[in-house]
Amino acid sequence: MKKYDYLIVGSGLFGSVFAHEATKRGKKCLVIDKRNHIGGNVFCENIEGINVHKYGAHIFHTNDKNIWDYVNQFAEFNNYINSPLSFSKGKLYNLPFNMNTFYQLWNLSKPEDVKRKIEQQIREHGFENPKNLEEQALSLVGKDIYETLIKEYTEKQWGRKASELPAFIIKRLPVRFTFDNNYFNDKYQGIPIGGYNKIINGLLKNIETQVETDFFENRNYFESIADKIIFTGKIDAFFDYRFGKLEYRSLKFETETINSDNFQGNAVVNYNDSDVPYTRIIEHKHFEFGKQEKTVITKEYPENWTEEKEPYYPVNDDKNNTIYQEYKKLSEKIPNVIFGGRLAEYKYYDMHQIIASALTSVKKEFHER
Ligand code: FAD
Ligand code: UDP
Repeated sequence: MKKYDYLIVGSGLFGSVFAHEATKRGKKCLVIDKRNHIGGNVFCENIEGINVHKYGAHIFHTNDKNIWDYVNQFAEFNNYINSPLSFSKGKLYNLPFNMNTFYQLWNLSKPEDVKRKIEQQIREHGFENPKNLEEQALSLVGKDIYETLIKEYTEKQWGRKASELPAFIIKRLPVRFTFDNNYFNDKYQGIPIGGYNKIINGLLKNIETQVETDFFENRNYFESIADKIIFTGKIDAFFDYRFGKLEYRSLKFETETINSDNFQGNAVVNYNDSDVPYTRIIEHKHFEFGKQEKTVITKEYPENWTEEKEPYYPVNDDKNNTIYQEYKKLSEKIPNVIFGGRLAEYKYYDMHQIIASALTSVKKEFHER
């Protein structure tokens, strides 16, 4: 008999939810992570009494009451609503694209006039079947919004031309004809009071974990100690890159403490212009309406991904998706390894989708309906 029922590679949300649910069903799990902490990309660090989102702004949102109830078991959520702003050529605009944005851009205050303006731009520049992000954006909001708030941000974020990126990326952002700056359309939204570590600590309570432990540095050993493996790392690395390397986009985070109680008056401010090297500045205290004397901000710089950097975003263009499909086919032939999460499924998943996906895997694994 092996020492563990499940070895879970990666202590992000996918691995933690799986470990929690398997343990609840009487299974023995070991969770390993190569970083020096648990939680993956939702990890928070307390600086000056502020929960700093170490890997970029994380706002929880979902339409699914089951997922909302699930996370609320582990932490109470506040009523934070994400309403980012964006700087473009010296002017500040509200996001997502709504009546405030249109007023700031065109000085039009009536939805009817705005609709007419956008429809005219879409007629002139839009596409019937948008094939890439640029065509999609032009067909959704027209040329002015695209050029003021999308093109440069997108090309900086992804290091590629907007015309070479998949259309679905821009469909994440709402377009509304009301004065409503809520970045998400979902019914439930908020930030866990006390930070995301509360959720991860709750999920992994009483479960054996080892940090600073890379699966690949001791692969044979780790494959021998458990009946099954839940793998949430890079799927191409798992298969020794035999079908080629998948591409990712990385980020560099520069965090500083500032001797002021309020730096930018909002949690998230985007910077559209290509000559500003970062895409956004996060002021963490505003996620929890903090009243601390100081403030902590993080500048987020997009970077090319190389082996020594963190692979934050999959690049889901046709070329990479085709390679991923090869890995996926292979992964389906290995019944004792379950591949899950943003890296192993090579999907631009949000937190609520990761939790849903992990719970689906659990049901499948334990033959539940
Ligand atoms: P991860 O959190 O990446 O966890 C994978 C873990 O596996 C990592 O800890 C890694 O160290 C470990 N690992 C990898 N390889 C190995 C190995 N070989 N050995 C041991 N350990 C290994 N979602 C939202 O819902 N709202 C947001 O506002 C939001 N903002 C985001 C902002 C940014 C900048 C980013 C990058 C993501 C954001 N997300 C957001 C998405 C969210 O972070 C993910 O959906 C979620 O954290 C993914 O969980 P995961 O378990 O799949 O992956
Ligand atoms: N985007 C943009 N301008 C902005 C914000 C976002 O053009 O000010 C585009 C960009 O292509 C980005 C995508 O919308 O990659 C999704 O943005 P979101 O804020 O959802 O991305 P994430 O938080 O996952 O980086």
